[in-house]
Amino acid sequence: MLQFSSAALALEYAGLWPHNPGLAQILEQLGHHVRRHFRKSVMLTCIQRTLGTQLTAYGRGSKQIDPRSALHQADPGAWLADTADRSARWALLQQRASPHLFWLAADIAPWLYTPEETRQILAFLRGFDPVNALPVIPAAGSRTVWLHAAGSRGPHFHIQYHGPLRPLPAAGHRLA
Ligand SMILES: [Zn+2]
Repeated sequence: MLQFSSAALALEYAGLWPHNPGLAQILEQLGHHVRRHFRKSVMLTCIQRTLGTQLTAYGRGSKQIDPRSALHQADPGAWLADTADRSARWALLQQRASPHLFWLAADIAPWLYTPEETRQILAFLRGFDPVNALPVIPAAGSRTVWLHAAGSRGPHFHIQYHGPLRPLPAAGHRLA
């Protein structure tokens, strides 16, 4: 089951479906699994982020942003249509700008879970790496999930995805 840290975030989640249905489906699946196996919820804390928020709350965080570059590259649609050299372009985009600017990421709260549950959630989400077109986050060793703290915010699961609809985690990565 999915919960939202604010009413505005629930509206953002509705907006996520047309922008990135694959990510919305992954969040839904995670919510079902966490409910079924841990009897707990998944609490969304952040989805879309404007450049202003990004600079205010995260400017001193792990990702240094060049605003002009981010704005210049703010339409990844053309990149997606161009199948040539896509990975290099994604890598450049991720290096320069948060995927939250482009409906490619969502954050969930970590404080609901035990260490073992946390380990299983990370494994579940890493199961989507083989079908995720986004580049690997070096600090996470995953294309899909990073448990970290950034800027003025506390620790959270950062979940990012661009890929096929109805994805299933790779065998061996499902929740036990
Ligand atoms: Zn994030």
